[in-house]
Amino acid sequence: MPATSRTQLIELKTSEKVEIVDITEKVESLVKSSGVREGICVVSVPHATASVILNENEPGLLEDIVREINRLFPQEGTYMHNRIDDNASAHIAASFLGNSRIIPISGGRLIRGTWQSVLFVELDGPRERRTVAVTVMGE
Ligand code: ZN
Repeated sequence: MPATSRTQLIELKTSEKVEIVDITEKVESLVKSSGVREGICVVSVPHATASVILNENEPGLLEDIVREINRLFPQEGTYMHNRIDDNASAHIAASFLGNSRIIPISGGRLIRGTWQSVLFVELDGPRERRTVAVTVMGE
């Protein structure tokens, strides 16, 4: 089977300023439908104020992560960017958290830890439409 690469988009809606949305099932279903058995999956967020992380979808931990994002990157502050916009903290948090993750694919499955879910992190919500690009490469 020849090597292939395909990028598909997941769309989602958020309802909080800072919010974590589990997209594991959607990413896994794209990997499955791609037919790729050995390769990599790149999950990328084409936004300056959102991120993607791999971690445990445990309600208490998700609350902890949101609280720590708000503590480390407070909305109130003397930010230069806020002279033209009011979301500097979201840009800074996104810069630190990163906008993509690479996950290996083997045997047709994502190689991820039991406690590693694929989590979209909204940092400047609520937003009607956010996009996640999922690129599956391999053979
Ligand atoms: Zn901005």
